[in-house]
Amino acid sequence: MNINELLDNKNGDQIEDLTGWIDSIRDHGGLTFVDLRDFTGSVQLVFDKSAEINAKLKNEYYVSIKGLFKKRDEALINNKIFLGDIEIEVSELTVINKSKTLPFQIEKDIDTDENIRLKYRYLDLRREPMKVNIMTRSNTFKSIRSIMNDLNIFEIDTPTLIKSTPEGAKDFLVPSRKSPSNFYALPQSPQMYKQLFMMAGFPNYYQIAKCYRDEDSRKDRQPEFTQLDLEFSDASPSLVKSNIEKIVKFLFSDAYDCKIDTPFETLSYKDAINLYGTDKPDMRIIETLKDISELFNDTEINFLKEILDNDGLIKALHTEELLTRKQIDTIDADIKEMGSNGLGWFKIDNNEISGPLAKLLNGSEKADILKFGSGTLIFQAGEINSIAQYLDFIRRTIFKPSSNEMYSFVWIEDFPFFEYEDGKLQPSHHPFTSPKDNETFKDDPINAVALHYDLVLNGVELGSGSQRINSPDIQKLVLQKWGLSDEEIDDRFGWFIEALSYGTPLHAGFAIGIDRLVAEVLNQPSIRDVIPFPKTQSGLDPLTNAPANIDENVLEEYNLKYINKDE
Ligand code: ASP
Repeated sequence: MNINELLDNKNGDQIEDLTGWIDSIRDHGGLTFVDLRDFTGSVQLVFDKSAEINAKLKNEYYVSIKGLFKKRDEALINNKIFLGDIEIEVSELTVINKSKTLPFQIEKDIDTDENIRLKYRYLDLRREPMKVNIMTRSNTFKSIRSIMNDLNIFEIDTPTLIKSTPEGAKDFLVPSRKSPSNFYALPQSPQMYKQLFMMAGFPNYYQIAKCYRDEDSRKDRQPEFTQLDLEFSDASPSLVKSNIEKIVKFLFSDAYDCKIDTPFETLSYKDAINLYGTDKPDMRIIETLKDISELFNDTEINFLKEILDNDGLIKALHTEELLTRKQIDTIDADIKEMGSNGLGWFKIDNNEISGPLAKLLNGSEKADILKFGSGTLIFQAGEINSIAQYLDFIRRTIFKPSSNEMYSFVWIEDFPFFEYEDGKLQPSHHPFTSPKDNETFKDDPINAVALHYDLVLNGVELGSGSQRINSPDIQKLVLQKWGLSDEEIDDRFGWFIEALSYGTPLHAGFAIGIDRLVAEVLNQPSIRDVIPFPKTQSGLDPLTNAPANIDENVLEEYNLKYINKDE
């Protein structure tokens, strides 16, 4: 019997075989009070003959009891536990299993190093907040399956030992024992397979898919994560977006008991960068970036003049708050660490302007700056793509969300087709995304726009999708412009281009990051808190010690040899 089932009982009922963990023990002389906890809640047990019980029980022992169900007096109700208005007078106790001394307490708030929590994750998951996180995740899966059924979208699975699906990361590789010197890759996403379903004639597809990306440990990413992956045939971005809105709206009401408004606002990538300094804007913050370049048309401030002469911009944020020197110095240090040359600022107080550059301002600049009104004007000058990230950081640092909505969604679209990452040209989504205009792409791929759309929630990228290329020629062209040689294209993607060549319908899709969604809904600082068994930031699993060394004999079976590069 579990604790929740006690609700069906009344005063004086005999309780049989109630099981659970000993949560706490309080010795009150002749009586001992014990909180018993299971998955469904906790309840107080009362034992007489204290001494005997104390010797027998310890925290986290798993026990079974028989006893008498008693309603507690009004004055004695314990509001801290789930069934605080009842207690069980225990007549018989069986210890089913003892517990070793715990590495940390099974309590709501603990201050234990995350590595220790992960090493004993099965104990960490006994804690109430972790249980709530994992159950919210489970409810998310349940609601997904329910809305997918309602929308008549088919759940179909795809293989995980594959060739390779590029999504901008490195592959996790699996050596093939039977085919010496050959490797499978784990999918970075089911992208190409879901497109094959559309080529095969299925009208749609979804999967709750595991994806694997071997990335240098970027903040709050996991080498293995879970996506709700979707694809629709005969589809356009607007059809996909409206389906995603239906799905997200349903998830919020069904799994998270929260009403959200649809349709979501849409912003172009360019506007997002210009107004918020990022393609993942937190729209709950209403303040936007102002372009103040024109104010400085005749400036005598040399570095600003130089930047403006070289087609740079001066972008500013104005807060009514008079930031302290300490606040300014902290932001200055933070953005310098990110690569900025430093923070530009003017304070406006009592119609006076102060700040390191105030003395260099000419009359019209002063007049224009005073128009902002009392407060602090903070700015960055340079080429928009290089200053955007600092402005985004400053915006999120000096302003707090002021919208009443807890969840603020926005679509971002019209992304550049390619971007530079570490000096290398990369598709800003993936190479199966359709250019917005094929002719423009042919002439000027670097400046082409992609039919790629992202969904952002409270400043977090929740998902991405795109219209797919459905012509083999365009697919080949995109891969060529990406920099692949014809041999590489043939070797890596020849089979896919071949598959596109048999009457491929228009198709488009999307994927929602489930870990991020649940973390955002529960306002958790890290996605690790909503993943049952996550890896650490450096990709390790402290519980099982994966990844692990492989014995040389086993390596040999796989035709592999370990080379120590340091030797
Ligand atoms: N495969 C993409 C991703 O994993 C999503 C998509 O384009 O549907 O981000």
